[in-house]
Amino acid sequence: MSGHEVILRLALPTPLRRQFDYLPPQDVDYKSLTPGIRVRVPFQSRTLTGILTSIEKNSDVPYEKLKSALEILDENPILPDDVYKLCQWAAEYYHYSLGEVFACALPVLLRRGKPAATKKTLKETAECLGAPLQLNAAQQKAVQAITESRQAFRIFLLDGVTGSGKTEVYLQSIAEIIAQGGQVLVLVPEISLTPQTIERFRRRFPVPVAALHSSLSEQDRLQAWIAARSGEAKIVIGTRSAIFTPFANLGLIIVDEEHDTSFKQQDRFRYHARDLAIMRASFNLIPIVLGSATPSLESLLNVKKQRYEYLSLPQRAGEAMLPQYQIIDLRQTPAEDGLSNALIQTMREHLEQGNQVMLFLNRRGFAPVLYCTQCAWIAECKRCDARMVYHRSPARLQCHHCDAHSKIPERCAHCHEAALQPVGLGTQRLEESLAKHFPDVPVIRVDRDNTRRKGAMQNLLDQIHSQNKAILLGTQMLAKGHHFPHVTLVGIVDADNGLFSADFRAAEQMGQLLMQVAGRAGRAEKPGTVMIQTRYPDHPLLRTLVNEGYHVFAQTLLTEREQAVLPPFSYFAIFRAEAYAEENANQFLNVIRQMCPESTEASLLGPVPALLARRKGLHCQHLLVKTNKRSVLQNILKSILSKLDSLSVNHSVKWVLDVDPVEV
Ligand code: ADP
Ligand code: ZN
Ligand code: ZN
Repeated sequence: MSGHEVILRLALPTPLRRQFDYLPPQDVDYKSLTPGIRVRVPFQSRTLTGILTSIEKNSDVPYEKLKSALEILDENPILPDDVYKLCQWAAEYYHYSLGEVFACALPVLLRRGKPAATKKTLKETAECLGAPLQLNAAQQKAVQAITESRQAFRIFLLDGVTGSGKTEVYLQSIAEIIAQGGQVLVLVPEISLTPQTIERFRRRFPVPVAALHSSLSEQDRLQAWIAARSGEAKIVIGTRSAIFTPFANLGLIIVDEEHDTSFKQQDRFRYHARDLAIMRASFNLIPIVLGSATPSLESLLNVKKQRYEYLSLPQRAGEAMLPQYQIIDLRQTPAEDGLSNALIQTMREHLEQGNQVMLFLNRRGFAPVLYCTQCAWIAECKRCDARMVYHRSPARLQCHHCDAHSKIPERCAHCHEAALQPVGLGTQRLEESLAKHFPDVPVIRVDRDNTRRKGAMQNLLDQIHSQNKAILLGTQMLAKGHHFPHVTLVGIVDADNGLFSADFRAAEQMGQLLMQVAGRAGRAEKPGTVMIQTRYPDHPLLRTLVNEGYHVFAQTLLTEREQAVLPPFSYFAIFRAEAYAEENANQFLNVIRQMCPESTEASLLGPVPALLARRKGLHCQHLLVKTNKRSVLQNILKSILSKLDSLSVNHSVKWVLDVDPVEV
């Protein structure tokens, strides 16, 4: 057979869910080609880098129409077997183009065809500080279970209250795996991958640690990727896309804060990094640890079904105690500019003793609404179904859903009276009000608006750690993961957000966030107090959470989900369609609805407008497919997509399929 009688089948980075056939380049011996290598090919008017998936004898495309590939880029497969297999599995499960999944798994420079060459070696930590701590009994049991299962696929849920020493369990398990010659992958939520987290690992181990985060240069990302693949990097810490990192000898995967929704990619290829991590551990026959103080309902159910092994750290480590809770009824004690008298009073007491107070408000800006007191007009975004948020520094109106911003108007756009007033509370307004109540205490605000600049977050954290008496004020950026030993009082300024939402997951997420925030109080030797301001002090979920703790709360929610046959007791997929004309999105989803095979085991909901029905001028509509078996859902999606793929493309509608959505 001459070189031209074989056909290269390639996965290309295009949204089309199919593969493409090419002839080998003229001068290449096809016998030297193995699946998994990168190949450059002409595609429409562009050049693309694809991955060879197989070498075929025949093609459905007539021979004379086949184009020749331009260049073979690798001698050996660019991705190791397990990552290749993970990509195939993910493309099938999430019904996404295999070529785009491969592209997602590769660093940008490799995607562009650059060689996988090493320029430098990773820096090793010169000196290691802080010997391992003496583990308590619960920690010891956890480390033992995790490390004894080397080379066996076992899933552990490490359920440990905030401050119980989960990180210490990770560190000592990692030490053991590294001592046995293995490598470890640690996945963390975006918000937790701070220089402190990375430092904590680097200081502990005299081995190269690679961190994969969004502010790395493409060159550094490639170097970290290569160091992991060669086995040089013993530990890789990264956010969700790090799940595709190649390793020479992966021995353990840790997913910290496994309940965090940032593990689900929310655009294009909508994969869940925790779920892929479990698949990867199963391919590699290694243990995986899912750690959290507030496990997801999915994971708790999997423990009940004995799919996961349960490891519990019920107490705080060392001398620290769990905080006491107090609910403040805002109907009885009205809050001026967000702060009730009871909260102000308690803050004074804690500050007078030289401690720090942390206030949590998950709303940045000065006020969420600009309102006309004459005619009730409200400033809205022109492109989204959302209100413009009033910001003071810099002074402007801003839409938090798109990038739109404008000058603050002096007069109402409707009645033209100078009667506009900012209504409601954001972090900037609370900052002002704190300066009035506590003129002598430094207030340190942490939210997305004042941490965008490089080094800004670090600067604020340094300020927090360098002084005693201070008020820390922030959104969830401040609430998650940090260890502030001087904080003895946490105030939750407005707990009512998640109590009445249209999304069935809102209550679970509210409970997790409140527990995380509360977990910042009293983490060292001084005991902590948590004060929760609410207009609904008798709300049963809030009561359960505060009086009986997260586990009873989660159990209550699980029972409700079971009764309503909601996930994790059923399986969801959503077709999300967007178009400038609402009827186009609607029509498209109705076509999909018709394509859905009849089944007594499935139900359809929609098309309905999304929670945010218009964003950046696009109307968003949803069609929900719900089944009580995963396999039924998969079959239905396959059937719909095979029909959809043969339909001619309607360019006025953009759509995605979201399997196991975390936002409904
Ligand atoms: P988590 O990750 O569960 O929130 P950390 O691992 O950050 O908890 O531990 C909280 C604090 O307790 C840290 O200051 C840590 O050094 C300390 N700690 C952890 N384990 C022990 C232990 N066995 N003995 C004493 N202190 C511990
Ligand atoms: Zn008006
Ligand atoms: Zn907008």
